[in-house]
Amino acid sequence: MAEGFEKFGFPEGKRYNSFVGYFKRKYGERLQKIVLDAGFTCPNRDGSVGRGGCTYCDNAAFHPSYSTSGKSLHQQLDEGIEFHKVRYRTTEHYLAYFQSFSNTYAPLERLRELYEEALSHPSVVGIVIGTRPDCVDEAKLDYLADLAQGRVLADWRRSLAGEPDRTAPIVIVEYGIESCYDVPLQRINRGHDFETARRAVRMTAERGLDVGAHFILGLPGETRQMMLDSCALINDLPLRSVKFHQLQIVKGTRMEKEYADSPQDFERFALDEYLDFFVDMLERLRPTLSIERFVGEVPPRFVNETPWGLIRNVELIRLLEQRLEARMTWQGRLYVEG
Ligand code: SF4
Repeated sequence: MAEGFEKFGFPEGKRYNSFVGYFKRKYGERLQKIVLDAGFTCPNRDGSVGRGGCTYCDNAAFHPSYSTSGKSLHQQLDEGIEFHKVRYRTTEHYLAYFQSFSNTYAPLERLRELYEEALSHPSVVGIVIGTRPDCVDEAKLDYLADLAQGRVLADWRRSLAGEPDRTAPIVIVEYGIESCYDVPLQRINRGHDFETARRAVRMTAERGLDVGAHFILGLPGETRQMMLDSCALINDLPLRSVKFHQLQIVKGTRMEKEYADSPQDFERFALDEYLDFFVDMLERLRPTLSIERFVGEVPPRFVNETPWGLIRNVELIRLLEQRLEARMTWQGRLYVEG
């Protein structure tokens, strides 16, 4: 009988539950996200929640060149598909990823137009909606649940390798939670607390929608022990997937100044340390959580320093896998079901 990581049956025989592997297993093929800028703004910038935004935020640093709000969604999708075809020649289907700013921050009628426009692209099989936890309500989530259950787009049909007669789009909601602690959230001027995030994740999962969340490792006021302890809080959320980024301090942001003034308040990681630290995190994370990312990749022109060099995500994934193997460990090894 399998004793170690084999007993979890992670996709592709890995020692952790990779999101790419989850997609392949669930839908029978690789799905690629295409980042879109649909022209949204953010309540933490326009004054309805706050002004100036989160202290680390510069949206330009986080989205690719093909995605700009001056272009139609179909044009961004076509250009994004061309862009990704170079690396993933055999990919046939895509997820429209509403990423820039807060992608549920508009009246429901406007959201419907945008999401349904993206879903009308013949290569798009679903949408991923990145947003803040304080930017959803019952009506918006009910609509998304109806969309995911095939009650909105009567004639919508797609043929995936694992689901040749798919009649409803894939719908994933991805919340920027960033930290499970209110003190760092206040310090980065996030404009919401952890309880708001917990409530939004629950309301979304209750409707049968897949929920993802994003966290930043290394925010000011958050120690390594706090980050490790936050795994228990993350495990308790009804999430399907998680993304983690090491904090990268983007030029020109308020955080750049804060870091210059008080570097002792920040946990910074050398690459080798981060690999070990992330393995420590993985050991504590629920094995059913899919890991979509464990590092961020801000283009070098947006940062003052690149302490890890110009190493690509694919190489970092390889290093993480090697580290898991060297330590003979796996995701969930220290996880205790609550
Ligand atoms: S919520 Fe997102 S878009 Fe808004 S300020 Fe914060 S990081 Fe930027």
